[in-house]
Order: sequence, then structure tokens, then C-alpha cells
Amino acid sequence: NKPSFVLRNPSANKGTGFNDEERNKLALKGLLPPKVETLQEQSDRALSQFTSFTNNLEKYIFLNCLRDRNETLFYYLLMNNLELMFPIIYTPTVGEACQKFGNEFRFAQGMYFATQDKGSIRSMMDNWPADGVDIIVVSDGSRILGLGDLGTNGMGIPVGKLQLYVAGAGFHPTRTLPVIIDAGTNTKKYLEDKYYLGERHTRVADDQYYPLVDEFLQAAFDKWPNVLVQFEDISNDHCFKLLDDYRDKFLCFNDDIQGTGSVILSGFINSVRAVQKPITEQRMVFLGAGSAGIGVADCIMSLFEEAGVSKEQARKSFWFVDSKGLITTTRGDTLTPQKRAYAREDYDYQLKSLLEVVRDVKPTALIGLSGIGASFTQEIIEEMSKHVEKPIIFALSNPTTNAECTAEQAYQWTDGRCIFASGSPFKPVEYKNHTFVPGQGNNMYIFPGLGLGAHLCRSKHVTDAMIITAAKTLSKFVDDSEVVTGKIYPGLQHIREISTKIAVRVIEKAYEEGMAQLTPRPTDIEAFVRMNQYNPSYDQKFNN
Ligand code: NAP
Ligand code: MN
Repeated sequence: NKPSFVLRNPSANKGTGFNDEERNKLALKGLLPPKVETLQEQSDRALSQFTSFTNNLEKYIFLNCLRDRNETLFYYLLMNNLELMFPIIYTPTVGEACQKFGNEFRFAQGMYFATQDKGSIRSMMDNWPADGVDIIVVSDGSRILGLGDLGTNGMGIPVGKLQLYVAGAGFHPTRTLPVIIDAGTNTKKYLEDKYYLGERHTRVADDQYYPLVDEFLQAAFDKWPNVLVQFEDISNDHCFKLLDDYRDKFLCFNDDIQGTGSVILSGFINSVRAVQKPITEQRMVFLGAGSAGIGVADCIMSLFEEAGVSKEQARKSFWFVDSKGLITTTRGDTLTPQKRAYAREDYDYQLKSLLEVVRDVKPTALIGLSGIGASFTQEIIEEMSKHVEKPIIFALSNPTTNAECTAEQAYQWTDGRCIFASGSPFKPVEYKNHTFVPGQGNNMYIFPGLGLGAHLCRSKHVTDAMIITAAKTLSKFVDDSEVVTGKIYPGLQHIREISTKIAVRVIEKAYEEGMAQLTPRPTDIEAFVRMNQYNPSYDQKFNN
């Protein structure tokens, strides 16, 4: 191993950024063109290369190949162009990248644990090259974004999400681990695709699935006792049980349930500020009662509790619509415990369509987490806006093609009166000489800071109070004068500041709740957080 191998090591490579002294010491003379460049100069070039691609998937591949060459440059570029690149490394482009993952595969970026590995997961973890791991994002590929079961092609999601943990909060890139648990796939197309890279069978039954996940978790916390595990894009039939089984056992959370709950709670807090009607007067119709819908409702419940309203009473402000219509105790099917908690008991008639529900309920807020594009039709939105001055409309399904309606439609159909947020980004909308800036209820506002806080103070668990604290901290980044204009989320360019504040508040909460195991408690928590954040630069030495 010659010292010049450093050029092939993405976490140490500086490319043309190696100065003369380093070039001499590492025997790089002649292996690089003469000019020594700053990170900024390299980044300018990389940005012009990035913009030269017209196709988003090509941009995605460019960025991931850059990361595999020079991690520092990749993160520097990403952090300085977050709003431009975020939709490439995460939703919506990452969705396309996952769907074509078998074809586009270039190199493995994380670890795979498959059913054939049962019994050897702990020893396989020793193969991971990094010294330590602070955070794992794990998926089984069963419900990737709103795109369904992509099997091991889902790897793009843990990879992208961890890049956001690094850029957004400052986890150290070499201490992040993307994981796919391969329990098969039920998507025929992939089972028949010669480029598909996972085990070629349909998903295993629960009596094989849960032990596989359990072995993975036991192994991960044995190997890396201070790691935080984040569950991601796991289908409805498993994600709630996994969270229930492990949330009081390990340091873990599910971003689709809890992260979504938190970020939408934050947007909802600000929507309530914007419409100037108390939470107790809100009537919320949810389209979709999956991990996201239930997670959001559970978080919004906390606002009722604070207002002194009992859980029983608060539930009467929620109406859930799933693929069978309004969820009631009387519709004659067996409900999951999550749905049962919100099932209406006061309906002796059945409402099958969202339009019927909107007519019947006259909601103040319509929240779409169904994965079904264009399901908020003009008729539905117009019906809703007949009865409410400032309708709250959240079309949260990803990617963009799955959004329940577009920003433009929401503003047009409500004559510019609505408070709108989406999951995937929409451009500002010009309507009647006014520019409306749609909010993006993006989980990225929450999970990086929440995760960093929980990890840094060695919290035993991720508690509900931490999730609610995170939402409130975020909501305060929008001030009263902005809120009245319909702006409910701050700009993503402030992500580091937001994540830092969230991490601080989460750590404070963790000490308050007796969850934090780090002793002694840092005297200046904010300084402690900042000291531990990764920043891409060629001189910083990272100690952890
Ligand atoms: P999920 O667990 O699969 O749940 C989907 C829900 O939608 C289920 O309750 C399903 O009904 C319901 N549904 C499906 N088709 C329907 C139809 N035609 N009419 C009415 N309801 C229908 O998925 P999820 O994790 O909750 O995610 C749902 C969507 O939210 C995805 O598109 C995801 O991208 C998005 N999301 C956005 C954010 C964000 O913006 N921050 C965060 C997380 C997720 P059944 O229960 O009857 O099957
Ligand atoms: Mn997700």
C-alpha cells in the first residue's frame, strides 16, 4: 500500500487540494496536475459539472460518484447548494434512482443482511471498514417513498438519508452506516429483472422476518453500543410493531412515523398561528392512515393535551380515510390498533369517498398522506373552501407525482386563501399578482437534529417529549410576521442552525427526563453540540 493510495480513499482524498508539502510527504508528485486548489475552487468546478447534466438521474450519479472520490468535496458542495441538490440526493430523484438501482449499481455504499445470513450478522458487522458507527439507517425496502416494495433496490434511501444527517446536523460521514435487510421482495418485476441484486424470492413470513430484524438489532448494539438506529421506509404491517418492540429497549426511532409526526406538527403549529383559530376549533381530515398519517395525528394530539383536552375528546377532531373510506368502528372490518384509536364511533352510515367525507365533516384541515397522486380534486378543495376562511391543505405524499394536489392547484382552487404544504418541493406560485411560497413539510428539518441530540448525550431512548420539543423548536424559526403571510417553515438553507438548536433542546430534554447517560452534563450544551459537528474542510481534524 503506497502512501499515494490516499487518492483512492474518499475520506482522506483532497485531489488537487493536496498542497506541496502533502504532495511531497505522500509521494503524490506527478500524480496530480501542478495547480493546488482550494476547496472552494474545486467546488466551483464540481458545481459547473453538476449543472451541465440536464437529467436528474445523471446528476444523482454524478454526486454519488463524487462522494466516492472525495467525501470532503462532496459534503462541501452539498452543504453550500443544499436547496439545489437536496431534491437530487433525496426525494424525488432518489426514488427514480432506487427504481433503477439494479441497472445503475456502481459500488456498494452500505451493508446488506439477507435471510441467508441468519446466524452470522454479528460477525459480518466486523467487516465494516470504519472504526466506529454513530448512526445506522435501516430499511427492508418494503415501502420506498410512495413507490412500493423495491426490495434491496431501496438501498438508495438509507444512503441518501445519511447524507442528509451529515449535511444537516454534522454526523461524521465515515461513522454512518446505511443498511438493507433483505427479506425478499413481492415485486414481480424485480424478481424477473436480471439486474436485480437481492435474494430472489418473495418476502419471508413474519416468523422469519422478525427474528432476522432482531438479530440485526442485537448485533448492531453489541458491536456499537452508542449507535442510534433509525428505521426507514418499512411497510405498515411491520413498522409499528418494530417501533413498539424496540423503542424502550434500544436508542432507535422511525422517521416515517415520528420524524414525519414532528415536522408536520411543527407546520401545523404554525398553520394554527396563521389562521388564528385555536387547535380546539380544528377539524382534521386525513387521507391515509399509514405510518405517516398515524404518526402525524399522534403528534398533533399533544397540542390538545396541552390545551387541557382529554385524549377521548381530542380524537373527535380527527377523521381518517383509508383505501376503504372513512374509518369507523361500524364499517365491519377488523382495524389495526393504530386505526382503531382514531376510528369514529359516531357514524351509523358509511362514507366511501374523500369528497363525501369533506362534505360531511367540513374540515378546517385536509392532510394527505396516502401516496395517491391527484386525490385532492378541484371539487374536493372547492367544497372544503366553501366552509372555511383559510383552509389548511397539506399534500404530503412523495414523490412529486404522488402529491395529493400541486401547490398551484391548491392556491387556485382556494382563490389564494389556503395555507399549503407539500412533501416534495414545489416552486413558488404566482397567482393574482401575489407570490405564494409553498411550505415543504420535509422530515429533514427534524431528523438530523433529533438524531444528533439523542446520540451525543447517549440518550437511552428517543422519547415522545423529544419529538415534540423538536417540532416546537422548528416552529419558532418562523416569526409572527412571516406566519401571517402563510409561511410555515423556515428556509432549508438554515438547516445547520435549525439542527443545532433542535439537538440542544433534545439534549436538555434528555437530561430532564433522566434519559441522558453522558456524564457529567456539559455545562454549555450548545458549545458541546457545535464542537462535535462535522464540517467539511481540509484542515479540520475530527475527534470523537
Ligand atoms: P403507508 O403506511 O403505506 O400508508 C398509506 C395509507 O394510505 C394507508 O392507510 C392506505 O390505506 C391509504 N391509501 C392507499 N390508497 C388509498 C386510496 N386510494 N384512498 C384512500 N387512502 C388510501 O404509507 P406512509 O408511510 O403512511 O406514507 C404515505 C405517503 O406519505 C407516502 O407517499 C410518503 O411519501 C408520504 N410521506 C411524506 C412525508 C413528508 O412529507 N414529510 C413523510 C413521510 C411519508 P389502507 O390502510 O386501507 O391500506
Ligand atoms: Mn421515509
